Amino acid sequence: MKIPVGILGATGMVGQNYIGLLNEHPWFEVRFVAASPRSAGKKYKEAVAGRWQLAESCADAVSGLTVHDANDVSAALAAHDRGQCAFVFSALETGKDQIRALEESYAKAGVPVVSNASAHRSTPDVPMLIAEVNPHHADVIPFQQRNHGFKKGFIAVKPNCSIQSYMTPFYALINTGFEIRRAIVSTMQAASGAGYPGVASLDLIDNIVPFINGEEEKSELEPLKILGTVENGVIKPADAPIIAAHCNRVSVSDGHTACVSIEFGAKKPSIAEIKHIWTNFTALPQELNLPFAPMHPIIIQEEDDRPQPRKDRDADKAMAVTVGRIRPCPVFDVRFVGLSHNTVRGAAGGGILNAELLKAKGFLD
Ligand code: NAP
Repeated sequence: MKIPVGILGATGMVGQNYIGLLNEHPWFEVRFVAASPRSAGKKYKEAVAGRWQLAESCADAVSGLTVHDANDVSAALAAHDRGQCAFVFSALETGKDQIRALEESYAKAGVPVVSNASAHRSTPDVPMLIAEVNPHHADVIPFQQRNHGFKKGFIAVKPNCSIQSYMTPFYALINTGFEIRRAIVSTMQAASGAGYPGVASLDLIDNIVPFINGEEEKSELEPLKILGTVENGVIKPADAPIIAAHCNRVSVSDGHTACVSIEFGAKKPSIAEIKHIWTNFTALPQELNLPFAPMHPIIIQEEDDRPQPRKDRDADKAMAVTVGRIRPCPVFDVRFVGLSHNTVRGAAGGGILNAELLKAKGFLD
């Protein structure tokens, strides 16, 4: 028996990726879909007609589902009570306050929310999980439930898609005892990161847009929460690394690339040590053999001109981070290029891995 799940924002870029990735998932199956009032009442296939983004067609079982209005929590609750929606993945894109309130309403109604949206990322008792980095942050969930009067529901989120390409490499080094004091990160982010229809094609073809609203702030602050400690039922952000981010939208379909320079504390690893640490890095998802866990969370590409989005974004189910060009930095200590698939590792795949982790920890029973 698979666990029936729902998707809020099922018709969007990330929602469609959830549907594609959950097709034949060994634990979860999509039984409930919801989106804006514009799509509500239509069959799913009809609601995404003309804007389906995946190469493979939508599974028949999902095509025929009726899309509900995501603002109507009672529809999900009724599906929950019928045993058709144990929890929801949230891939909503609308006002931040509206998403914050909606996700809380689902949790309050007893339907856990595993979210991709940014609305609750800075809420201190909401874990912001990268399954390989901070799975222990899920420990705040019982405190969150008590603080908000949630009985069975809760909210867990994943971070911004652009930080995936360097957070796991950072953590692998920090976890081995190398403090990272400061970092400068310049990202080249794919068009799909802006959702559908996203940036107008005439603004992006033959062009780079050196501004993504709110992205640099997220890139500088979210890593501190992810590396923070759980204290008295909330997550206390770390003090370091201090990050300066430059985020750019580029004419790539999928795959966010980051050029990164890092400054270590007093103890500095050699390039050979860094490569050894990254090549051998594994964590709890690999230990638990979770279905969406990449076998190797960090893959090193030694060729001079890698990683590249087209060649490397799909590595290990599109769930691995590929790094390359690891070399000394004349300003800080070391520089490298990191790449991860934004709609898979950075969105739906990361959300599914978080749900697998939460299930393995007993939060979704
Ligand atoms: P998107 O393509 O614009 O899809 C937005 C979804 O939200 C659609 O299903 C849409 O339904 C629904 N929606 C819009 N307005 C709504 C309303 N008023 N009430 C209820 N539902 C509404 O966006 P996306 O790229 O999939 O992003 C979804 C979320 O994931 C966002 O929070 C985004 O920040 C986050 N995220 C995206 C990426 C990425 O790479 N794209 C990566 C990480 C995180 P209709 O189709 O009916 O309009």
